[in-house]
Amino acid sequence: MSAFDSSVDKGSFFEGSVNDRSVVGSGDSPANEHPRPPRREFKARGSFVTRCDSCQLPALNCLCPYQVKAESHAQVWLLTHPLEHFKPTNTGRLIRDVITTTRVFTWYRVAPDAQLAALLDDSRYAPFVIFPDDQPDYADRVVGIDAVHAAKGQARIPVFIILDGTWRQARRMFRKSAYLDQLPVLPLSTERETRYRLRKPASKAHLCTAEVAIELLRQGGDAVAAEVLDDYFEVFNDSYAASRLYHKIDPPTAAMQRLVARKV
Ligand SMILES: [Zn+2]
Repeated sequence: MSAFDSSVDKGSFFEGSVNDRSVVGSGDSPANEHPRPPRREFKARGSFVTRCDSCQLPALNCLCPYQVKAESHAQVWLLTHPLEHFKPTNTGRLIRDVITTTRVFTWYRVAPDAQLAALLDDSRYAPFVIFPDDQPDYADRVVGIDAVHAAKGQARIPVFIILDGTWRQARRMFRKSAYLDQLPVLPLSTERETRYRLRKPASKAHLCTAEVAIELLRQGGDAVAAEVLDDYFEVFNDSYAASRLYHKIDPPTAAMQRLVARKV
């Protein structure tokens, strides 16, 4: 596996370190095929911290002053595992903050979101499922980043469909979603090591969701959008980590200064 998703299934999440299933009770099954009652009330650490209503970060290090929009040719559509929506450490939302064309769908095993299904049939888009190419049974679907550039050459909009969840969740989403079976698979190939500090990665090569998007945008030719998102991710990362220590970041970091400079 090259670089892909973020987080490990076990380990030291800040929020959500309790049994994940207690968040929604029935795990990832909206159809309740495996009903599991909550084992205990979900109480994330940090529940009592005052959070900004807009960015959800602790107010001490609010992210809002650093929100800068960027345009990109390619789009990112997140297929987000239901359990991931609840986690404030989720970085998928950072992509949407920066790139307004970003779409977020909740993953359902049985059927796709109706809007997603319609979009997958829309020939204006060239969707790619982002997933490692480490298994032989779908090798015929694997493409490289040149396919993204080729789509742009045909005046289609490349779409990176990122499976937003833990590694285990993402693998299940990939395997269990028949509606993704026809799409080309684009593995992210990068030397980048994760800088995400809010969850413990199984490996430095496991990038979090925002980092996956940053590298795809960069390789796909959206350099400015990638830079803005990278800075915004860094500010999120720093701010969140500092807030755990009840520490306010001061003076502004280099990434903060770059983002503020883009605003004027
Ligand atoms: Zn805020």
